[in-house]
Amino acid sequence: MSRILTNEIDLETVEKSRINDVDFDNIDFGREFTDHMFSCDFVDGEWQTPKIMPYQALTLDPSARVFHYGQAVFEGMKAFKDDQDEVWLFRPEDNFNRINISAARLAIPEFPKDYFLNGLKTLIQLDKAWVKKGDGNALYIRPFVIATEPAISAAPANEYKFMIICSPVKAYYKGRLSVLFAEKFSRSADGGVGFAKAAGNYAAQFYPTNLANKKGFQQIIWTDANTHEYLEEAGTMNIFFRINNTLVTAPTSDRILDGITRKSVIQLAKDNNIDVEIRRVSVKEIKEAAMDGSLKEIFGSGTAAVISPISAFEHAGDVFEIPDLEDSYSTFFKRKLMDIQYNKSDDQHGWRYKV
Ligand SMILES: *Cc1c(COP(=O)(O)O)cnc(C)c1O
Repeated sequence: MSRILTNEIDLETVEKSRINDVDFDNIDFGREFTDHMFSCDFVDGEWQTPKIMPYQALTLDPSARVFHYGQAVFEGMKAFKDDQDEVWLFRPEDNFNRINISAARLAIPEFPKDYFLNGLKTLIQLDKAWVKKGDGNALYIRPFVIATEPAISAAPANEYKFMIICSPVKAYYKGRLSVLFAEKFSRSADGGVGFAKAAGNYAAQFYPTNLANKKGFQQIIWTDANTHEYLEEAGTMNIFFRINNTLVTAPTSDRILDGITRKSVIQLAKDNNIDVEIRRVSVKEIKEAAMDGSLKEIFGSGTAAVISPISAFEHAGDVFEIPDLEDSYSTFFKRKLMDIQYNKSDDQHGWRYKV
Protein backbone atom coordinates (compact mmCIF):
# COMPACT_ATOMS: atom_id res chain seq x y z
CA MET A 1 0.00 0.00 0.00
CA SER A 2 1.56 3.32 -0.99
CA ARG A 3 1.60 6.28 1.34
CA ILE A 4 1.59 9.97 0.72
CA LEU A 5 2.47 12.71 3.16
CA THR A 6 0.02 12.70 6.04
CA ASN A 7 -1.18 16.20 5.40
CA GLU A 8 -1.62 15.73 1.71
CA ILE A 9 -5.31 16.17 1.04
CA ASP A 10 -6.54 17.78 -2.12
CA LEU A 11 -8.80 20.48 -0.70
CA GLU A 12 -11.58 22.38 -2.42
CA THR A 13 -13.77 24.49 -0.13
CA VAL A 14 -17.20 26.01 -0.67
CA GLU A 15 -17.54 29.64 -1.68
CA LYS A 16 -20.45 30.16 0.63
CA SER A 17 -21.62 27.97 3.50
CA ARG A 18 -25.21 26.63 3.43
CA ILE A 19 -25.37 26.68 7.22
CA ASN A 20 -27.73 29.65 7.42
CA ASP A 21 -30.33 27.79 5.37
CA VAL A 22 -30.59 25.08 8.00
CA ASP A 23 -33.17 25.19 10.77
CA PHE A 24 -31.18 23.49 13.52
CA ASP A 25 -34.18 23.34 15.84
CA ASN A 26 -36.11 21.18 13.44
CA ILE A 27 -33.86 18.65 11.83
CA ASP A 28 -34.76 15.11 10.96
CA PHE A 29 -32.02 12.59 11.66
CA GLY A 30 -29.71 12.26 8.67
CA ARG A 31 -31.37 14.61 6.20
CA GLU A 32 -29.12 17.66 6.36
CA PHE A 33 -25.45 17.46 5.42
CA THR A 34 -22.55 19.81 6.07
CA ASP A 35 -20.76 21.90 3.44
CA HIS A 36 -17.98 19.41 2.69
CA MET A 37 -17.34 15.73 2.13
CA PHE A 38 -14.28 13.48 2.03
CA SER A 39 -13.64 11.18 -0.90
CA CYS A 40 -10.80 8.83 -1.80
CA ASP A 41 -10.67 6.49 -4.80
CA PHE A 42 -9.06 3.09 -5.04
CA VAL A 43 -7.75 2.55 -8.58
CA ASP A 44 -4.82 0.66 -10.08
CA GLY A 45 -4.39 -1.28 -6.85
CA GLU A 46 -4.01 1.69 -4.52
CA TRP A 47 -5.81 4.43 -2.66
CA GLN A 48 -5.25 7.73 -4.46
CA THR A 49 -4.79 11.20 -2.96
CA PRO A 50 -7.73 11.88 -0.64
CA LYS A 51 -9.96 14.84 -1.47
CA ILE A 52 -12.21 17.12 0.49
CA MET A 53 -14.72 18.97 -1.66
CA PRO A 54 -18.11 20.66 -1.47
CA TYR A 55 -20.89 18.17 -0.61
CA GLN A 56 -22.32 17.11 -3.93
CA ALA A 57 -23.96 14.29 -5.87
CA LEU A 58 -21.87 11.46 -7.28
CA THR A 59 -21.74 10.38 -10.87
CA LEU A 60 -21.55 6.61 -11.11
CA ASP A 61 -21.85 4.23 -13.99
CA PRO A 62 -25.06 2.16 -13.78
CA SER A 63 -22.87 -0.93 -13.99
CA ALA A 64 -20.96 0.08 -10.83
CA ARG A 65 -20.65 -3.16 -8.91
CA VAL A 66 -22.14 -1.80 -5.71
CA PHE A 67 -25.56 -1.62 -7.40
CA HIS A 68 -25.46 -5.28 -8.38
CA TYR A 69 -23.53 -7.18 -5.72
CA GLY A 70 -23.81 -4.95 -2.68
CA GLN A 71 -20.15 -4.44 -1.92
CA ALA A 72 -20.74 -1.65 0.58
CA VAL A 73 -19.72 -1.16 4.21
CA PHE A 74 -20.14 1.80 6.52
CA GLU A 75 -19.55 3.26 9.96
CA GLY A 76 -21.47 5.54 12.29
CA MET A 77 -19.77 7.89 14.70
CA LYS A 78 -20.32 11.30 16.29
CA ALA A 79 -18.47 14.55 17.06
CA PHE A 80 -19.44 16.62 20.10
CA LYS A 81 -18.78 20.25 21.01
CA ASP A 82 -17.97 21.16 24.62
CA ASP A 83 -18.70 24.42 26.44
CA GLN A 84 -15.33 25.86 25.35
CA ASP A 85 -16.12 25.18 21.66
CA GLU A 86 -13.66 22.31 21.40
CA VAL A 87 -14.81 19.40 19.25
CA TRP A 88 -14.31 15.78 20.30
CA LEU A 89 -14.73 12.37 18.75
CA PHE A 90 -15.44 9.25 20.77
CA ARG A 91 -13.12 6.26 20.20
CA PRO A 92 -12.65 6.98 16.45
CA GLU A 93 -9.82 4.47 16.10
CA ASP A 94 -12.31 1.75 16.95
CA ASN A 95 -14.52 2.87 14.07
CA PHE A 96 -11.48 2.87 11.81
CA ASN A 97 -10.52 -0.66 12.84
CA ARG A 98 -14.08 -1.86 12.42
CA ILE A 99 -14.60 -0.48 8.92
CA ASN A 100 -11.53 -2.40 7.82
CA ILE A 101 -12.79 -5.57 9.52
CA SER A 102 -16.10 -5.11 7.68
CA ALA A 103 -14.26 -4.32 4.44
CA ALA A 104 -12.11 -7.45 4.64
CA ARG A 105 -15.22 -9.65 4.96
CA LEU A 106 -16.66 -8.10 1.79
CA ALA A 107 -13.36 -8.39 -0.12
CA ILE A 108 -12.91 -4.61 -0.09
CA PRO A 109 -9.30 -3.35 0.25
CA GLU A 110 -8.21 -1.91 3.60
CA PHE A 111 -8.14 1.84 3.99
CA PRO A 112 -5.00 3.49 5.48
CA LYS A 113 -5.34 4.79 9.03
CA ASP A 114 -3.60 8.12 8.46
CA TYR A 115 -5.89 8.91 5.53
CA PHE A 116 -8.89 8.18 7.72
CA LEU A 117 -7.88 10.15 10.80
CA ASN A 118 -6.43 13.12 8.91
CA GLY A 119 -9.38 13.21 6.55
CA LEU A 120 -11.81 13.09 9.43
CA LYS A 121 -10.06 15.82 11.40
CA THR A 122 -9.65 18.14 8.42
CA LEU A 123 -13.28 17.66 7.39
CA ILE A 124 -14.65 18.31 10.88
CA GLN A 125 -12.42 21.35 11.36
CA LEU A 126 -13.74 22.79 8.11
CA ASP A 127 -17.35 22.15 9.11
CA LYS A 128 -16.88 22.90 12.81
CA ALA A 129 -19.71 25.48 12.84
CA TRP A 130 -22.13 22.63 12.06
CA VAL A 131 -21.34 20.94 15.39
CA LYS A 132 -23.73 22.59 17.82
CA LYS A 133 -23.25 22.79 21.55
CA GLY A 134 -25.80 21.48 23.99
CA ASP A 135 -26.83 18.14 25.42
CA GLY A 136 -27.71 15.74 22.64
CA ASN A 137 -26.58 17.95 19.77
CA ALA A 138 -23.86 16.31 17.70
CA LEU A 139 -22.47 15.80 14.25
CA TYR A 140 -23.29 12.33 13.00
CA ILE A 141 -20.43 11.10 10.82
CA ARG A 142 -20.93 8.48 8.17
CA PRO A 143 -17.81 6.94 6.61
CA PHE A 144 -18.58 4.36 3.91
CA VAL A 145 -16.98 2.42 1.06
CA ILE A 146 -18.64 1.36 -2.19
CA ALA A 147 -17.49 -0.66 -5.19
CA THR A 148 -17.49 1.74 -8.14
CA GLU A 149 -15.92 -0.33 -10.91
CA PRO A 150 -18.21 -0.40 -13.96
CA ALA A 151 -18.45 -4.13 -14.62
CA ILE A 152 -21.25 -6.58 -13.87
CA SER A 153 -19.49 -9.91 -13.76
CA ALA A 154 -19.93 -11.35 -10.27
CA ALA A 155 -16.51 -10.68 -8.81
CA PRO A 156 -15.01 -8.25 -6.32
CA ALA A 157 -14.39 -4.83 -7.82
CA ASN A 158 -11.02 -3.36 -8.69
CA GLU A 159 -12.23 0.17 -7.97
CA TYR A 160 -13.77 1.65 -4.83
CA LYS A 161 -14.70 4.97 -3.29
CA PHE A 162 -14.18 5.68 0.41
CA MET A 163 -16.25 8.64 1.57
CA ILE A 164 -17.13 10.53 4.73
CA ILE A 165 -20.26 12.67 4.97
CA CYS A 166 -21.49 14.52 8.07
CA SER A 167 -24.97 15.32 9.28
CA PRO A 168 -25.92 17.59 12.19
CA VAL A 169 -28.28 15.82 14.61
CA LYS A 170 -30.26 16.65 17.71
CA ALA A 171 -30.82 14.55 20.78
CA TYR A 172 -33.07 11.86 19.66
CA TYR A 173 -35.36 10.41 22.16
CA LYS A 174 -38.20 8.32 20.88
CA GLY A 175 -39.50 7.25 24.25
CA ARG A 176 -39.15 3.69 25.48
CA LEU A 177 -39.39 1.11 22.72
CA SER A 178 -41.51 -1.98 22.47
CA VAL A 179 -39.85 -4.85 20.66
CA LEU A 180 -40.53 -8.25 19.19
CA PHE A 181 -38.24 -11.23 19.84
CA ALA A 182 -37.59 -12.86 16.45
CA GLU A 183 -39.10 -16.29 15.94
CA LYS A 184 -38.87 -16.82 12.20
CA PHE A 185 -36.62 -14.34 10.42
CA SER A 186 -32.89 -14.02 11.12
CA ARG A 187 -30.49 -11.13 10.78
CA SER A 188 -27.31 -13.17 10.53
CA ALA A 189 -25.97 -16.68 10.61
CA ASP A 190 -22.83 -18.57 11.57
CA GLY A 191 -20.08 -17.85 9.08
CA GLY A 192 -22.03 -14.92 7.64
CA VAL A 193 -21.61 -11.16 7.72
CA GLY A 194 -23.50 -10.26 10.91
CA PHE A 195 -20.36 -8.85 12.56
CA ALA A 196 -19.72 -6.52 9.61
CA LYS A 197 -21.39 -3.14 9.16
CA ALA A 198 -22.44 -4.26 5.70
CA ALA A 199 -25.19 -2.31 3.92
CA GLY A 200 -26.96 -5.56 3.03
CA ASN A 201 -27.50 -6.47 6.68
CA TYR A 202 -29.82 -3.49 6.89
CA ALA A 203 -31.64 -4.17 3.63
CA ALA A 204 -32.43 -7.69 4.84
CA GLN A 205 -33.99 -6.41 8.06
CA PHE A 206 -36.39 -3.89 6.58
CA TYR A 207 -39.07 -6.37 5.57
CA PRO A 208 -39.36 -8.26 8.88
CA THR A 209 -39.11 -4.93 10.72
CA ASN A 210 -42.00 -3.55 8.65
CA LEU A 211 -44.08 -6.56 9.70
CA ALA A 212 -43.14 -5.93 13.35
CA ASN A 213 -44.07 -2.22 12.95
CA LYS A 214 -47.51 -3.24 11.67
CA LYS A 215 -48.00 -5.23 14.86
CA GLY A 216 -47.08 -2.14 16.88
CA PHE A 217 -43.44 -2.93 17.69
CA GLN A 218 -40.67 -0.50 16.81
CA GLN A 219 -37.84 -2.98 16.59
CA ILE A 220 -36.91 -6.63 16.52
CA ILE A 221 -34.48 -8.29 18.89
CA TRP A 222 -32.84 -10.91 16.74
CA THR A 223 -32.33 -14.42 18.01
CA ASP A 224 -29.77 -16.99 16.83
CA ALA A 225 -30.60 -18.30 13.38
CA ASN A 226 -30.19 -21.98 14.34
CA THR A 227 -32.66 -22.30 17.20
CA HIS A 228 -34.22 -18.84 17.74
CA GLU A 229 -33.75 -19.54 21.45
CA TYR A 230 -30.98 -17.07 22.25
CA LEU A 231 -31.26 -13.30 22.15
CA GLU A 232 -28.50 -11.60 20.18
CA GLU A 233 -28.96 -7.93 19.25
CA ALA A 234 -31.30 -5.40 17.69
CA GLY A 235 -30.87 -4.22 14.12
CA THR A 236 -28.85 -1.13 14.96
CA MET A 237 -28.05 -1.67 18.62
CA ASN A 238 -26.56 -4.23 20.93
CA ILE A 239 -28.79 -5.29 23.76
CA PHE A 240 -28.46 -5.48 27.55
CA PHE A 241 -30.67 -7.13 30.17
CA ARG A 242 -30.65 -6.18 33.82
CA ILE A 243 -31.58 -9.15 35.99
CA ASN A 244 -31.83 -7.98 39.57
CA ASN A 245 -28.69 -5.84 39.67
CA THR A 246 -26.62 -7.81 37.18
CA LEU A 247 -26.14 -6.67 33.62
CA VAL A 248 -26.21 -9.44 31.01
CA THR A 249 -25.33 -9.21 27.32
CA ALA A 250 -24.57 -11.70 24.58
CA PRO A 251 -20.93 -12.31 23.61
CA THR A 252 -19.89 -10.90 20.23
CA SER A 253 -19.45 -13.49 17.52
CA ASP A 254 -19.52 -13.66 13.74
CA ARG A 255 -23.28 -13.03 14.02
CA ILE A 256 -23.15 -9.99 16.29
CA LEU A 257 -21.73 -6.54 15.71
CA ASP A 258 -19.00 -5.51 18.14
CA GLY A 259 -20.56 -2.21 19.19
CA ILE A 260 -18.38 0.55 20.58
CA THR A 261 -21.20 1.74 22.83
CA ARG A 262 -21.63 -1.86 24.04
CA LYS A 263 -18.04 -2.25 25.06
CA SER A 264 -18.03 1.21 26.67
CA VAL A 265 -21.08 0.26 28.75
CA ILE A 266 -19.37 -2.97 29.83
CA GLN A 267 -16.28 -1.01 30.89
CA LEU A 268 -18.32 1.63 32.74
CA ALA A 269 -20.24 -1.11 34.54
CA LYS A 270 -16.95 -2.60 35.74
CA ASP A 271 -15.68 0.84 36.77
CA ASN A 272 -18.84 1.35 38.84
CA ASN A 273 -18.93 -2.07 40.49
CA ILE A 274 -21.94 -3.28 38.54
CA ASP A 275 -21.72 -7.02 37.84
CA VAL A 276 -21.65 -7.85 34.14
CA GLU A 277 -22.11 -11.26 32.61
CA ILE A 278 -21.17 -11.76 28.97
CA ARG A 279 -22.92 -14.96 28.02
CA ARG A 280 -25.72 -16.38 25.93
CA VAL A 281 -29.12 -15.14 27.05
CA SER A 282 -32.10 -17.34 26.32
CA VAL A 283 -35.60 -16.17 25.48
CA LYS A 284 -36.87 -18.60 28.12
CA GLU A 285 -34.71 -17.08 30.84
CA ILE A 286 -35.87 -13.55 30.01
CA LYS A 287 -39.53 -14.54 29.92
CA GLU A 288 -39.16 -16.27 33.30
CA ALA A 289 -37.31 -13.28 34.73
CA ALA A 290 -40.08 -10.99 33.46
CA MET A 291 -42.66 -13.20 35.19
CA ASP A 292 -40.88 -13.48 38.54
CA GLY A 293 -39.98 -9.76 38.58
CA SER A 294 -36.20 -10.18 38.45
CA LEU A 295 -36.03 -8.62 34.96
CA LYS A 296 -35.59 -4.96 35.81
CA GLU A 297 -34.56 -3.47 32.48
CA ILE A 298 -33.77 -4.10 28.83
CA PHE A 299 -31.94 -1.47 26.83
CA GLY A 300 -30.15 -1.12 23.53
CA SER A 301 -26.78 0.57 22.98
CA GLY A 302 -25.55 2.29 19.84
CA THR A 303 -24.00 5.52 18.60
CA ALA A 304 -27.20 7.13 17.29
CA ALA A 305 -29.37 7.02 20.43
CA VAL A 306 -26.58 6.08 22.92
CA ILE A 307 -28.94 4.08 25.16
CA SER A 308 -32.52 3.11 24.22
CA PRO A 309 -34.68 1.79 27.04
CA ILE A 310 -37.23 -0.87 26.18
CA SER A 311 -40.67 -0.85 27.75
CA ALA A 312 -42.17 -4.12 26.50
CA PHE A 313 -41.45 -7.23 24.49
CA GLU A 314 -43.48 -9.87 22.75
CA HIS A 315 -42.59 -13.48 22.06
CA ALA A 316 -44.88 -16.27 20.82
CA GLY A 317 -47.95 -14.18 21.57
CA ASP A 318 -46.88 -13.41 25.15
CA VAL A 319 -46.45 -9.73 25.91
CA PHE A 320 -44.42 -8.49 28.87
CA GLU A 321 -44.28 -4.95 30.17
CA ILE A 322 -41.15 -3.73 31.90
CA PRO A 323 -41.78 -1.17 34.64
CA ASP A 324 -40.06 2.21 34.28
CA LEU A 325 -37.46 2.40 37.05
CA GLU A 326 -36.64 5.60 38.86
CA ASP A 327 -32.89 4.92 39.14
CA SER A 328 -32.37 2.89 35.99
CA TYR A 329 -29.08 1.63 34.64
CA SER A 330 -30.10 3.00 31.24
CA THR A 331 -30.24 6.57 32.57
CA PHE A 332 -27.02 6.02 34.52
CA PHE A 333 -25.02 4.75 31.53
CA LYS A 334 -26.41 7.34 29.16
CA ARG A 335 -25.39 10.15 31.52
CA LYS A 336 -21.92 8.64 32.09
CA LEU A 337 -21.30 8.21 28.38
CA MET A 338 -22.56 11.66 27.43
CA ASP A 339 -20.50 13.32 30.18
CA ILE A 340 -17.39 11.76 28.67
CA GLN A 341 -18.43 12.57 25.11
CA TYR A 342 -19.15 16.25 25.91
CA ASN A 343 -15.97 16.67 27.96
CA LYS A 344 -17.84 17.12 31.20
CA SER A 345 -16.14 14.37 33.16
CA ASP A 346 -12.84 12.55 33.51
CA ASP A 347 -11.91 10.30 30.67
CA GLN A 348 -9.97 7.62 32.46
CA HIS A 349 -9.83 5.27 29.48
CA GLY A 350 -8.71 7.86 26.91
CA TRP A 351 -11.88 7.58 24.82
CA ARG A 352 -12.11 11.25 23.85
CA TYR A 353 -10.18 12.32 20.77
CA LYS A 354 -9.65 16.01 20.11
CA VAL A 355 -10.36 17.22 16.62
C1 LIG B 1 -23.72 0.00 14.39
C2 LIG B 1 -24.39 -1.16 15.01
C3 LIG B 1 -24.47 -1.33 16.41
C4 LIG B 1 -23.97 -0.31 17.39
O1 LIG B 1 -22.59 -0.10 17.32
P1 LIG B 1 -21.95 1.21 17.97
O2 LIG B 1 -20.50 1.09 17.66
O3 LIG B 1 -22.22 1.13 19.42
O4 LIG B 1 -22.60 2.38 17.34
C5 LIG B 1 -25.05 -2.49 16.90
N1 LIG B 1 -25.55 -3.43 16.07
C6 LIG B 1 -25.51 -3.30 14.74
C7 LIG B 1 -26.08 -4.37 13.89
C8 LIG B 1 -24.94 -2.16 14.15
O5 LIG B 1 -24.91 -2.05 12.83
